[in-house]
Amino acid sequence: MSRIEIEGLMRRFGRVTAVDAVDLDVPDGDFLVLLGPSGCGKSTLLRMIAGLTPPSAGRILLDGADITATPPRERNLAMVFQSYALYPHLTVARNIGFPLRARRRPRTEIDSRVETVTRVLGLADLLDRRPKELSGGQRQRVALARALVRDPGVCLLDEPLSNLDATLRTATRAELTELHTRLGATFVHVTHDQVEAMTMATRIAVLNGGRLEQVGTPAQVYDEPASTFVAGFLGSPAMGLLPARVESVDGVLHARADGVDVPLGLPAADLTREVVLGVRAEHLSLGGTGAARLQGVVRLVENLGSEEVAHCLVGEARIPVRAPRPIGIAVGDAVTLTADPARAHLFDPTSGRRLVWQPTPVSV
Ligand code: ATP
Repeated sequence: MSRIEIEGLMRRFGRVTAVDAVDLDVPDGDFLVLLGPSGCGKSTLLRMIAGLTPPSAGRILLDGADITATPPRERNLAMVFQSYALYPHLTVARNIGFPLRARRRPRTEIDSRVETVTRVLGLADLLDRRPKELSGGQRQRVALARALVRDPGVCLLDEPLSNLDATLRTATRAELTELHTRLGATFVHVTHDQVEAMTMATRIAVLNGGRLEQVGTPAQVYDEPASTFVAGFLGSPAMGLLPARVESVDGVLHARADGVDVPLGLPAADLTREVVLGVRAEHLSLGGTGAARLQGVVRLVENLGSEEVAHCLVGEARIPVRAPRPIGIAVGDAVTLTADPARAHLFDPTSGRRLVWQPTPVSV
């Protein structure tokens, strides 16, 4: 059992508020990814859970017990950093066994735990090597093994994959996911890489300027982003966002702007309201005969291998559309895009929060 509850957690460094009133519940066995741009407070939040940075305010509970003031050694947590921080003069086996030797565990227990964790992580053939004789990926696995050898209830990971090349990162990502399933421990993983977050997390917590923007499954944050920030951060390319006005036309609500008319299929209400209209690249098609139209000019075409993404200027907004290669349009072409109205997103232009209609719009 390892549930982490975070209540009103705050950390200031002088005038900078790195983490601002964060409430977060991480259930036992969760793989929570803290995601956000550089400087949003991810590492500070993780370090507070680890006990390495004291909070300015708020509480951290582990399985119901307040650990806010508990020293790091006495929390049943393991932490893996971006830098592997292995002891260069020790072999892989001795590096991995180090936390148990430091706790003066019996020799037989150390041997048996090191054997189990190295087997799980595929390190059994490397036990006699020293860190300098390993690849980056192997070193990162040794660092993971050293963290996991104590069988901690919670494993905290701070960008552990960021030093690996793209191929190794993909492979290690899959290994970590498998390891999490096998161990059943609670993982809290920090990254600014949205692909890592989408592929590994059971839940993603998106941070922006020290505040939590949204917590949800990868599908929830991608399909129903709670704000323009989340919509713009998750997804490659990011969701196209443009200022529009919702108005009732013959009893049907439309989102309209210059060269844009998207019937929304929402309960009609006699209102006019400014919004931000959001559409993902995969929910737009080129040409088409649907009623939901956006007129634009192609500014850039990117070749992604199997697909191409055309970035189109609609008014002053950059709206990406993706299609199988060849996409058949070139820079400078005037294009009509058809949107899937059921997949259109609406946000409040001032707060940036998602709007839901019931039947009048409310922010979530
Ligand atoms: P990155 O992805 O770049 O590592 P992050 O999201 O992990 O960023 P943090 O390292 O938590 O962000 O930093 C959050 C904010 O707090 C930043 O503005 C940072 O400059 C500031 N900060 C972090 N640690 C300290 C410190 N020890 N002293 C002063 N300011 C700090």
